[in-house]
Amino acid sequence: MADANVDGCLACDLSRGRQNLPGGQIYATEHWVIEHCIGPFGVGALIVKPLRHCLHVSDLTTEEAAELGPLLQRATSVIESLIEPDQVYVCLWSHAGWTPGHIHFVLQPSWNRYQEEHAKPGPSLQVDMLEKNELPPRDEVAAFAEQARKMMTKTPAGIGNG
Ligand SMILES: [Zn+2]
Repeated sequence: MADANVDGCLACDLSRGRQNLPGGQIYATEHWVIEHCIGPFGVGALIVKPLRHCLHVSDLTTEEAAELGPLLQRATSVIESLIEPDQVYVCLWSHAGWTPGHIHFVLQPSWNRYQEEHAKPGPSLQVDMLEKNELPPRDEVAAFAEQARKMMTKTPAGIGNG
C-alpha cells in the first residue's frame, strides 16, 4: 500500500494544506476529499480523490471503494443543482508525464452550448480547454465552493462522516 501522504505530490499537498487551494476543502469523508479543480475546466469542476496517496483504482481498500460510488453520485448532484449543466463528466486519468499519479476523479460540468465554440464534446473538449488554459476566476471558484460545501454537508446520504 502506498504512503499515506507524499510531500511534493500535488494532490497530497492540496489536501494537506501545503499548497494554496482556491475555495478551500469542500467536503471530506473518512477516506475521500472533494475540492474545486485548480485546472482550466471551468467554475464548478470538482476533484474527488482519496485522502491516501493511492496511484491505482485497483489499490483502493474495500472501505475506500464503498464510499466512492455514493460520493460521486452526491457530488455530481450538487454540481447539477448549482449550475445546471447538460452533463457532468466523471473522468480519471492521473497519468501526467506517463507516470501513474495520485488518483483523482475530475467532475466537469458541460453544456450543450459549448458546441458553439468547440467541435466535439468529451475528451476533445477537455483537450481544447487544456490548450486554452484559462483558469476560472478565483472569486467565482470560492463562491461555488462555498455553496457546494453547504449542500454537501446538509445532505448526509448515509455515507462517510457527513
Ligand atoms: Zn498523493
